[in-house]
Amino acid sequence: MTTESSRAERLTIVGVPVDVVTFDSLLAQIAEWIARGDRARQICTVSPEFVMIAQDDPTFMRVLHGADLCVADGVGLLLAARILGRRLPERVTGSDGVPLIARRAAERGWRLFLLGAAPGVAEQAAARLVAENPGLLIAGTYAGSPAPAEEEDIVARVNASGADILLVAYGAPRQDVWIARHRERLAVSVAMGVGGTFDFIAGVVPRAPRWMRRLALEWLYRLVRQPWRWRRMLRLPRFVWAVLTHRERPLRRAQGDADR
Ligand code: UDP
Repeated sequence: MTTESSRAERLTIVGVPVDVVTFDSLLAQIAEWIARGDRARQICTVSPEFVMIAQDDPTFMRVLHGADLCVADGVGLLLAARILGRRLPERVTGSDGVPLIARRAAERGWRLFLLGAAPGVAEQAAARLVAENPGLLIAGTYAGSPAPAEEEDIVARVNASGADILLVAYGAPRQDVWIARHRERLAVSVAMGVGGTFDFIAGVVPRAPRWMRRLALEWLYRLVRQPWRWRRMLRLPRFVWAVLTHRERPLRRAQGDADR
């Protein structure tokens, strides 16, 4: 985390950083980074799954610690914060965040690049975002893959596109590791891993109905629709157990400069 972006308070949940942000403060932070335009900032959407993967994957853990912003993607993080005696104001998910980013982008003229997901899905998601936000500038879309053989080509495409914000949908931890590996060379202001968000926006995978999301049952909906996820979802109870047994004091983030 850089000093200039250290305004947000930061918790540590089972060793993983989670910043105390809302959608509003996320959008304000993105605007500030784009205005600076000095280097690529990395945003990670931390879910309980991220936390558990990071326990066994030191590279991923390092990437999360090196990210400029780690938002709480999932009700499990809010619960974990409460267990630690802290409070996270709201879930800041990629799937809710990307449409909000697109709306703000259309207003401000920020250019988006949608990277990842199955062939055609990023294009469909982009078309949907443009339909919902007339005037939105899509700098590019590309399915590609996180395979090393494609890296040079993808970085060149993104850089040639003139994008301000790069959204990467390769699933965790690959998308986040990919961004961290290339961020020094990426000529964007913000790079964010967004998981299955393009699938939701394109309508390839239906999102849980609003009432289920409100009752924090999105995980159940995903399990019923995509039962092969059951193994991945075993990480959820393991996460709760880890939070209960992990002895750590939540860290307070250093306050940033007074003008920030
Ligand atoms: N994906 C991809 N290339 C890969 C692996 C995954 O484009 O090599 C895409 C996949 O099509 C999906 C997204 O990455 O759009 C990850 O989806 P998933 O539902 O696993 O992510 P989650 O939201 O659970 O993090």
